[in-house]
Amino acid sequence: MTFLRFLLVGVANTFIGLGVIYAAMYFFHFSAVVANATGYSIGILVSFALNKTWTFGSDDHMGASFFRFLLVIAIAYSANLSAVLFVNEHFEINIYIAQALGIAPYTAITYLGSHFFVFRNRRKTQITTPPTALINVKTNKLLITRAIKLNIVVPCYNEEAVLPETTRQLSRLLQHLIAKGKVTADSCVYYVDDGSYDRTWDLIESLAKTNNFVQGIKLSRNRGHQNALLAGLLTVEGEAVVSIDADLQDDLSVIEKMIDGYRAGHDIVYGVRACRKTDTFFKNFSAQAYYHLLKMMGVEIIHNHADFRLMSRRAIEALKEFDEVNLFLRGIIPQLGFSFSLVYYDRSERYAGESKYPFRKMLALAWQGITSFSDLPLHFITGLGFLVSLISLGITTWVLWVRLFTQDAIPGWASTVLPIYFISGIQLLCLGVIGEYLAKVYTETKRRPRYIIEKATDSFLEDEN
Ligand code: UDP
Ligand code: MG
Repeated sequence: MTFLRFLLVGVANTFIGLGVIYAAMYFFHFSAVVANATGYSIGILVSFALNKTWTFGSDDHMGASFFRFLLVIAIAYSANLSAVLFVNEHFEINIYIAQALGIAPYTAITYLGSHFFVFRNRRKTQITTPPTALINVKTNKLLITRAIKLNIVVPCYNEEAVLPETTRQLSRLLQHLIAKGKVTADSCVYYVDDGSYDRTWDLIESLAKTNNFVQGIKLSRNRGHQNALLAGLLTVEGEAVVSIDADLQDDLSVIEKMIDGYRAGHDIVYGVRACRKTDTFFKNFSAQAYYHLLKMMGVEIIHNHADFRLMSRRAIEALKEFDEVNLFLRGIIPQLGFSFSLVYYDRSERYAGESKYPFRKMLALAWQGITSFSDLPLHFITGLGFLVSLISLGITTWVLWVRLFTQDAIPGWASTVLPIYFISGIQLLCLGVIGEYLAKVYTETKRRPRYIIEKATDSFLEDEN
């Protein structure tokens, strides 16, 4: 099967390479040398990309495996050439048949080389294909049968419209779980007020006075969902912590399944959206595209999982070791390792109020996810730089040749100005991306606190003492 894919890539690649050479010569009037160099370079890049992602599904380092690939191709070409020359010299055979015979050693060498040398590490599919966690949860023997102390962390930003209802539903859930003997009576809901400017904090304070299940902490200013969530996760105690949004979009009944998952021995239980019917077409489409992009870039995240999950004390202690400032929890938590499982649920509409995640914030989170976890953009630049250098080398050779050995060298404006534009454009692009990463290093080295807790509800402080 791999070999078949490899052959298909080879065929596609041949067509693409020939197509480029043809187009370069007849539409853009490049010389044969330049056209061939372009065609072969593009062919090599395409075949590398397809073989890496599709044929072998490798997660080898991009740059290193590309250089191994070039090495294998160089050896294969030499073998191909030697074979053709040998056949041509020793047998009375048509040159085309000799060339066709030469394809055999070429294919064998590139295939074996790719298989055993270039793409050595095959992608682990463990995390991207959902394990049958629900089944696990049901069939696994319970490892923990006593009640656990559960804390629920809820980041809130201007959520006055939903908080009373959220509190009602979460308290009812906790009562139900206490009655079933799954959680202890001192389990709690922790609201993290993320610097709201409406009545959210007042509400939290008054709810904390009247409801034993409610406690709250308030950040000194708006730090964004991820930081608010982290503040909650790292501040609360308890044997297991569930994080959930304030707006009741996530199915609360799933929390019981998460606890079952924990009792069955899983340190992290991810809530995964089974369907996205309630999302707009745009949100749905952009989310799917984003998950695929992340996967292509080698970032491990759980497909269709937002920050609705249960974490064990152990997992949270491990999370504390990550002190990066650019935070993308969805990417970090799979990095923690530990045994995990998934529970599926349908996501509903926001109970009240409007989304606190406008397009701008969504984009920022998406970008965070890519630049915090993938250095592929940098590798891409390296590849691009490599290709451009190769092309300009070809062009230079050609120009010199025309200038020195022929009479048709007309000092051309286009051939001078075009490369200048082209190359300075590429350089600018490279600088931009490098700057992007530099900015990250900059913020990391400053080691600023990620959040500052201004105050907590009285009940919370009493608990601490
Ligand atoms: N949130 C937050 N700080 C922010 C923005 C959002 O704490 O700066 C909280 C918000 O109160 C909610 C959760 O993050 O509990 C998710 O936000 P929302 O439901 O608005 O996002 P959506 O579901 O539309 O993606
Ligand atoms: Mg929401």
